[in-house]
Amino acid sequence: KGKSYSCMIRTRVPGGKVTADQFLAELDLCDKYGDGTVRLTTRQGFQLHGVIKGNLKAAIKGINDTKLTTLAACGDVNRNVMACPAPYKNNAIFDSMQEMAYALAEHLRPKTTAYFDLWITDEAGNKTNEAGFQPVVEPIYGKTYLPRKFKIGIALPEDNCVDIYTQDIGLLGIVENDAIIGYNFYVGGGMGVTPSNKKTYPALGKPLGFVENDQVLAVAEAVVKVQRDLGNREDRKLARMKYLVDNLGIETFREKVAEHYGSTITAPRDVEVTGIEDHMGWHEQGDGKLFLGVNIENGRIKDEGDLRIKSGLRKILETYKFNSRITAKQSVIFCDIDPVLRDEIDQVLTDHGMKKADELTLIRRFSMSCPALPMCGLSITESERVMPALITEFEEELARLGLENEKISVNTTGCPNGCARPYVPDIGLVGRAVGKYTLYLGGNSLGNRLAFIYDDMVPLAEITSRISPLLESFKEERQPGETFGDFCHRMGKEALQEKAGLAAK
Ligand code: SF4
Repeated sequence: KGKSYSCMIRTRVPGGKVTADQFLAELDLCDKYGDGTVRLTTRQGFQLHGVIKGNLKAAIKGINDTKLTTLAACGDVNRNVMACPAPYKNNAIFDSMQEMAYALAEHLRPKTTAYFDLWITDEAGNKTNEAGFQPVVEPIYGKTYLPRKFKIGIALPEDNCVDIYTQDIGLLGIVENDAIIGYNFYVGGGMGVTPSNKKTYPALGKPLGFVENDQVLAVAEAVVKVQRDLGNREDRKLARMKYLVDNLGIETFREKVAEHYGSTITAPRDVEVTGIEDHMGWHEQGDGKLFLGVNIENGRIKDEGDLRIKSGLRKILETYKFNSRITAKQSVIFCDIDPVLRDEIDQVLTDHGMKKADELTLIRRFSMSCPALPMCGLSITESERVMPALITEFEEELARLGLENEKISVNTTGCPNGCARPYVPDIGLVGRAVGKYTLYLGGNSLGNRLAFIYDDMVPLAEITSRISPLLESFKEERQPGETFGDFCHRMGKEALQEKAGLAAK
């Protein structure tokens, strides 16, 4: 008997918006073809893990049968377009961000029919699902596609829940009179780092300009084409657009975009990110209905012991058929809920061992991790599997210090590729060796500042004890309104190491 190859299948879900039936189909597929779990990703998609190679085709066809797709969920093309998932209905702002996510996803989707020829055929090789795709040459990607993956996210100044500065293109909605009139474009964000290559680094997006709604697709296409034509195709480690933006300089990059666009790019509006929401708990939707954010720790939907997340979500989706959203923090929002159902739904969560938002600490709600071992072939060490216990340690430490109400984000990854965006939160942990992590501090939950390396090769068991003295200093010396990330940023690495009794490195 030959080897069995186990694969991961990622579904692309623009803005994280899915129907109950699509969500239920993923739950069915994980039982039928996967390892019995579904993962909500940090890019608002689904992942099935442990799919044996012989089941790939059936699983991918099952996803396409629900009108979702895996096309452009991976690869050197524009991947899942993220957008704030909050389903508010009292104005056009949130719907227009969702619509823009769909429009961008469709505009930048590869036009190849090879995907369908490969995956969506019956035993005789006949296509069984056309899904509206047409056989044409790639009008945007050309013959070579992009040098590397490409990511887009859309948010509002008061809620950067999709981390726009970590994207190749971040769109910040500019609101006037309860409507988005256009977007500030930020270009060249990206998280991945290769420790052995000193030329690699995480970067935040830089302001490109302000773009009115009806020009967003054209300018996004122009940005993609600049990366297509000028991005590094010789060294894959330096192929993300962040290196092109930095090598050219933002002014020259802007000129190149303008050449493809055919017009100048207007200066960005003077607007900053000021907030972040995780959208958990009960909220008025604006049309008499409610929405409910349910925290799924690290996005892993499974049944384990008394915590039966998969069964609980299935029960809610089968019973009430709620439209749903996947958040950028790997959690789920149920939409369009009649207020009379509130207690009933809370009871379903309780019956399945799931906690309500107000029963969770902010550090657990605002933290996330990548899958890492044993799911990811690139992982160096653990992430998802050690995260719940690590957050418990942090919770105990914060409670001891009376800091349990602080909004502190901890993002952990099993390697420097940075899929859970570990270079921007208050505390970033990046797998460096087996059981050891690079410790980043000084970012923030707003996602608009890069963290710095505070310490390296920190054993898992020592992470909280290394940070504990800093939390104590934070408690004593913080300025009014200062977050832990702000405090670390203000103090800087050397001062923090001194407080912790570490020799400056
Ligand atoms: Fe895998 Fe690294 Fe991404 Fe984690 S950060 S999922 S270990 S590639």
